[in-house]
Amino acid sequence: MRIPMIVGNWKMNKTAATVAKFMDGIRDNLPDSRMIETAICAPALFLERMVAHTADMPLEIGAENCYFEDSGAFTGETSPMALSQAGVDFVILGHSERRKIFRETDEMVNLKVQAVFRNHMRPIICCDETMGQRENNDTVHWVVAQVIEALKGVSEEDARTAIIAYEPSWAIGVGTPATPDQIEEGCYLIRQTVADVYDDTIADEVRVLYGGSVKPANINEIMQKVDVDGVLVGNASLEAQSFLELISNDP
Ligand code: 13P
Repeated sequence: MRIPMIVGNWKMNKTAATVAKFMDGIRDNLPDSRMIETAICAPALFLERMVAHTADMPLEIGAENCYFEDSGAFTGETSPMALSQAGVDFVILGHSERRKIFRETDEMVNLKVQAVFRNHMRPIICCDETMGQRENNDTVHWVVAQVIEALKGVSEEDARTAIIAYEPSWAIGVGTPATPDQIEEGCYLIRQTVADVYDDTIADEVRVLYGGSVKPANINEIMQKVDVDGVLVGNASLEAQSFLELISNDP
């Protein structure tokens, strides 16, 4: 049984004051972590404080990116080793915003995936798809290639703990998610690719998330799909009330 997972991705939002407000708002209101795994991925600046604040809460903390070397002359980058030592559990990698705006390649994503595992954290690997690719019937090729490239050189032991997200960029931040059938199709494709690269047992264990305009009003319908183990949520994860509504929807 794969435990459902709801992950917030705050992107470059929040200040120290609004992080504190969020933390106060969710305290004592989180569900049992054996039933559902909840996490917030936040800008690096806030992570250490968030880890300390959530030590006694069933909420995991993730970063939104990191570099692939542990230390060195890489001005402005965030070390995966430092994240791990700060108590960070996850790192989002290969988000479409990073691929598009910051020109991250599959090769860089793969190096980062390896760096995250090397430092005993878990990657949330995002697979993108544009509307143009969908219209050209190129989704399969595109999503499969991203999964294969991201997992290159990753051991079976590590791969089974990976989290992979289907996040079509045309559904991000627009208010309307992909349809439940499109979501299932994308998540199934990811799981099948993991089965092809490793085996069915590992594919059965890997958690596959959907991201793109998920909110309290549509989460239930999305979570009911068989290959959807959870969601990666941007806007609707920013306020405590909305985040609590997301995680209180019975999946
Ligand atoms: P929205 O939920 O704001 O569409 O963002 C999705 C996303 O990019 C999560 O990583």
